[in-house]
Amino acid sequence: MTDAQALQAASTEPFVEMRGVRKSYDGRTFVVDDLNLSIARGEFLTLLGPSGSGKTTTLMMLAGFERLTAGTITIDGRPIEDQPPHRRNFGVVFQSYALFPHMTVFDNVAFPLSVRGLGKPDVATRVTRALQMVELAGLESRRPGQLSGGQQQRVALARALVFEPSLVLMDEPLGALDKRLREQMQIEIKHLHRDLGITIVYVTHDQTEAMVLSDRVAIFHEGRIQQLGAPREIHENPANGFVARFVGETNALQGEVVSVDSNGACEVRLAGGAVVRGVSSAPRSVGARVLVAVRPERIRVGNLDPSLENRIRGRVAETVYLGDRLVLRTAIDGGDLLLSNLEGEALDAPPSVGDVVELGWRRQNCLVLDLD
Ligand code: ADP
Ligand code: MG
Repeated sequence: MTDAQALQAASTEPFVEMRGVRKSYDGRTFVVDDLNLSIARGEFLTLLGPSGSGKTTTLMMLAGFERLTAGTITIDGRPIEDQPPHRRNFGVVFQSYALFPHMTVFDNVAFPLSVRGLGKPDVATRVTRALQMVELAGLESRRPGQLSGGQQQRVALARALVFEPSLVLMDEPLGALDKRLREQMQIEIKHLHRDLGITIVYVTHDQTEAMVLSDRVAIFHEGRIQQLGAPREIHENPANGFVARFVGETNALQGEVVSVDSNGACEVRLAGGAVVRGVSSAPRSVGARVLVAVRPERIRVGNLDPSLENRIRGRVAETVYLGDRLVLRTAIDGGDLLLSNLEGEALDAPPSVGDVVELGWRRQNCLVLDLD
């Protein structure tokens, strides 16, 4: 093998592997069920899902704070089940993983180095560098109580990174911060990831945060990964109704398949009788009950391009002005409400409640999914 080939092999080999991982706290129900996940070195992977879907439990098993009920976790091919948390050498930042209140910022960040037995000069150099990295130089002698929430979370970040761990685990680290600070910290975490080349497994229930940060996102629901992929892939091609609804807004309408062709195109009759044209990545049969999903931003309102394969009339039931866009809720036959967005010049003369409007969208933006 040449050096280049060896490098290639090394970089495609999974760094972290979770195989058949299950967890039950009560011996009856599995809160994490048959989890299979390969994480590449240098990757930013986010576990995204609603509260109670098993994200924290998964991270805790990775960190070594919870035992697996079944399955294996390996790092570079070696099982880690028998290693206690501190031996795994991972950096951790949890929302509730508080700083030591009686210790200074310096001592908090130095802690992981001191327990690893580093000498004083070494500790000082590394702590200084870590604090510069999170832009907290000069605050070394403060105590956590004298810092803002954002500054405290940056100390936690510095503490997790100071010993240069190969893997950093973060569980909703920005959950307690206000929106502006959260957005600023997201950018900082993204830059740290890029600059340090570390691997990060990140947990959040905030889909925008997941989109901003991640190379790949694993969508959790009821202890199972529903879909794993790049943010764009998950948004554009949700695997099922749950993912479609959880990631971004979507219109999900029930209907019955009335025709299929071999290219995955199918026609679906909605409750009110209208037939819409969509695409399905799974085989469908005529008569099957399905979900039709179309994103609000893919729906045009009025002045429709003749090439749009789907058009439907409705009456505006509600308008919500959000500054950069106007959200329209339009009632169609059968009682379904369709969400759509008006943006840009369309904001100059928006329809009013009670107006009859025509809505249109492309076949390719109209996904036919399993009923949940
Ligand atoms: P998430 O982080 O996605 O909100 P969790 O992993 O915290 O989900 O929880 C998944 C499920 O496991 C929930 O139903 C929760 O109540 C349960 N659970 C979490 N931790 C414990 C525990 N220590 N003991 C018993 N049940 C737990
Ligand atoms: Mg959690």
